[in-house]
Amino acid sequence: MSDCLFCKIVSGEIPSKKVYEDDCCYAFEDIAPVAPVHILFVPKKHIASAAGINSENSEVVSKIYEAIAKVAKEKKLDGGWRVVSNCGADAGQTVFHLHFHLLGGKPLGVMCDD
Ligand code: AMP
Ligand code: ZN
Repeated sequence: MSDCLFCKIVSGEIPSKKVYEDDCCYAFEDIAPVAPVHILFVPKKHIASAAGINSENSEVVSKIYEAIAKVAKEKKLDGGWRVVSNCGADAGQTVFHLHFHLLGGKPLGVMCDD
């Protein structure tokens, strides 16, 4: 997608602080962290949101979760961590390229507030 922020980050057109990369996923530090560790994991191929996951492309999700577990271990998030993927406006999704937030490094509190 030519006009997608995270596609531009994956291609290097927009700079990012890379944390992890393999053949199908890319991970980088969130520009506005809400926890001591706040890393975004994205598929290299554009998928707009979790609503776009299907039998053709779902393999990337397990690959991303493998990457998340590896990075969480490397970052020594031994006390626990959280993965969040906002899907759609009501969930607060602001960038419409599927991504998974890895959050950790402090007690994270309750899941949802209004
Ligand atoms: P969401 O609100 O779930 O769509 O998450 C989008 C995330 O992208 C937010 O946490 C932003 O802080 C983050 N973000 C936006 N622009 C950039 C950027 N250029 N580099 C890194 N993270 C970004
Ligand atoms: Zn994209």
